[in-house]
Amino acid sequence: MDSIVVRAHNLKKHFHTKRGIVRAADGVSFTISEQETLGLVGESGSGKSTVAYTVMGIYPATSGELVFKDQDITGALKKRSKALKQDIQIVFQDPGSSLNPRRTIRQILELPLRVHDTVSKKERVDRVAKLMELVELPVDFMYKSPPAIGGGERQMIAIARALATDPSFIVLDEPTSALDVSVQAKIINKLMELQKELNLTYMFITHDLSLMRNMASRVAIMYLGKICEIAPTAEFFSRPLHPYTQMLLSSIPVVSEQEEELKPKKIVSTGEIPSPVNIPPGCSFHLRCPSKMEICSRIDPNIVTPEENHQVRCHLFPGAAGN
Ligand code: SF4
Repeated sequence: MDSIVVRAHNLKKHFHTKRGIVRAADGVSFTISEQETLGLVGESGSGKSTVAYTVMGIYPATSGELVFKDQDITGALKKRSKALKQDIQIVFQDPGSSLNPRRTIRQILELPLRVHDTVSKKERVDRVAKLMELVELPVDFMYKSPPAIGGGERQMIAIARALATDPSFIVLDEPTSALDVSVQAKIINKLMELQKELNLTYMFITHDLSLMRNMASRVAIMYLGKICEIAPTAEFFSRPLHPYTQMLLSSIPVVSEQEEELKPKKIVSTGEIPSPVNIPPGCSFHLRCPSKMEICSRIDPNIVTPEENHQVRCHLFPGAAGN
């Protein structure tokens, strides 16, 4: 049986703006298998959230293929079946703005049950209690409103709301970046537990590479609308191939001497990230790359597979120029 849940091939999402065309996602390809976590990492403006919102149907794709369990999902959300909408859920970055402060938690968690009509009216309160138990919050919290509980607890409620329709796939859009470090760890651990318990598949969007070390099965790095490297997590951290990945990894904090030894030597980036409406020709990273060659400013490299399951978009690797 094909265990691939999400497949994107040459996925593009372009926005027409007054300043020009923003190629927010520009030929992105990846797969996510059942019960896997794909970490999609990038700086602001890399296109990671655009990819997530295209998968959610919030943005219809400009072109390319996007398939969820053999169903085409390139179009807008309204074209998706009810079952599909139930099966794909999202947890947003800031629970403070994604949860209505004037509703009780019970009302918030009952809303998806009502909209999707998944349980009878009588059973709703039991289902809400069950959702609260899943995220280890006291059941009597259901009578409070979001402002009356802590930030980490609000994010647990946002996770419970995403689970209300029994999805198999959840997009986690920077779910911990608005929280303190101590609370972040709790949320990450809970997400990992829930993944095992409920057989969930995740796409985790973040700008924080260090979060991916324990959480992701594979990591993909995006830069100006393209994936520049994708590999299984252990390999990604121990043998990064792309100069941009090496630059990012060289600057993340580590907790042990062993990890410090594995880190690439500190690489200082030159130049600024270019504007997404004015992406330079050739490799879009060449203005900042310490390894750039003559070809890099002329030809945009193809993604190649120099090692099994490890792909990189860079002219340092044979075949990237299309020869
Ligand atoms: Fe650097 Fe050239 Fe590779 Fe781009 S293609 S990352 S500029 S070496």
